Amino acid sequence: MALQPVPCRENQARLFGGGDAGGGAAKIGAAAQAHFDKHGGLAIAADQVDLAAAHPKVAFDQQKALPQQVVGRQLLGRRTFALPRAQGAARMSFMENALYVVATPIGNLGDISLRALETLRGVDLVACEDTRHARQLLDHHGIKVPTLALHQHNENEAAAKLVRLLGEGRCVALVSDAGTPGVSDPGARTVAAVRAAGFRVIPLPGPSAAITALSAAGLADARFLFVGFLPAKVGARKTAIRALAPIDAALVFYEAPHRVTETVADLAELLEPQRDIVIARELTKMFEQIARMPLGEASAWLAADANHQRGEFVLVVSAPPAREGLDAESERVLVALLAELPVKQAAKLAAEITGQSKNALYARALELKGG
Ligand code: SAM
Repeated sequence: MALQPVPCRENQARLFGGGDAGGGAAKIGAAAQAHFDKHGGLAIAADQVDLAAAHPKVAFDQQKALPQQVVGRQLLGRRTFALPRAQGAARMSFMENALYVVATPIGNLGDISLRALETLRGVDLVACEDTRHARQLLDHHGIKVPTLALHQHNENEAAAKLVRLLGEGRCVALVSDAGTPGVSDPGARTVAAVRAAGFRVIPLPGPSAAITALSAAGLADARFLFVGFLPAKVGARKTAIRALAPIDAALVFYEAPHRVTETVADLAELLEPQRDIVIARELTKMFEQIARMPLGEASAWLAADANHQRGEFVLVVSAPPAREGLDAESERVLVALLAELPVKQAAKLAAEITGQSKNALYARALELKGG
C-alpha cells in the first residue's frame, strides 16, 4: 500500500487557516506549562489551550463531529472545540486521529522502521518518557515535532492531555526511551485512557530487548514468560524466583548492571542446575554479547571479566527439566489422547487438562509411541 506522506500536522495547519495555526496565536493559560514548537505551532498546556479563540473557524460543531471526538469532548468537559467531520474527511494524510504507539531502537539507531519515521513525522505531538532523549532520536532524523513528557510519575495527567488533543482531532504518538512502550516502560495507562475515551490505538511494532534476546538465545522451549525486572529487595526477589521455578516455560528477565550479579546468583541458587541461562548484554550496540551457559556457571562468568557486568541486560533462563514420572490420572489422559492425536498435540492437551509439565508429558508420549 502506498503511503501518502502528507503529515497530519500540515493538513491541520491548512485547515486551521492557511498554515497559520502558530503557537503565538493560541491562548495559553498563565499557569500552564506549555511546550511550543515553532514548526508545528502546537501548544500543549497543563490546564488550557484555546485554539478556538484564535481560530473561530474551528469552533466545536457537535453535529458534525466524529463520534470519538464527541466522547473526547464530553470526557474533558471544558474543551471548546473539535475538528468538524468535513475537515477530518478532507484529510489527505495516512495519519488517523489516533494514538500511535511507536517502538524505537534499543541501541542501534538503524533499527527504527520506515513506518515509525513516517508516523513520527506525521503526528502533531510525540509523548515521550524523556523529552531530551527522544529529541536526540527525532533530531537524528530531522523530525521537528513538539514533544510532551509522559513518564511513570505523570502518566495519568499526560494521558489526559493526549485524550484532550485527540478530542481536538489531533494525531499523537507515544514512544519510550527505548524499545516498545508499555513493556517495562510507561504506556499501559495511557493506552487504557485513550481506549476508554473511544479513540483508536495503533501499534507500530519494532525493537524490544526481550524479543531480541529470545531471537538469539537458541532455546528450544516452546513457551516463554516475560517477567521483566525482579524485585530489588533480596527477600521479595527470592520469593518471586521461587514462584517462577515450576512454570513450564523459559523465563525472560530485564536487569540493571548494578544488580545483575546478585540476581544471577539468586537464580542459580533457586532454580534447577540443569537449566541454561543466556546472558544478553548491550544488544544491538557496539559491545553486544550473548553468552549461554548452565545456570551454575553464570556467576563465575560474570566475575571473570569486569566488562561482563557492564551495560544493559536481558537474562533468559531455559524451561525446567521434564519431571520424572507422571501420576496415574495424567497417564490415563495422555494415553486416551494419544489414541486420537499426534504426540505433540496429545502432550499439549494433556498438559492443559492435567496441569502437568508439557515436557514430561511429551517425553512420556514419545515413550508410549515407541513402545
Ligand atoms: N521497553 C523496552 C523494551 O521493549 O525492551 C524495555 C525498557 S526497560 C525500562 C529497560 C531494560 O530493558 C534495561 O534495563 C535492560 O534490562 C533491557 N534492555 C533495554 N535495552 C537493552 C539492550 N540494548 N540490551 C540488553 N538489554 C536491554
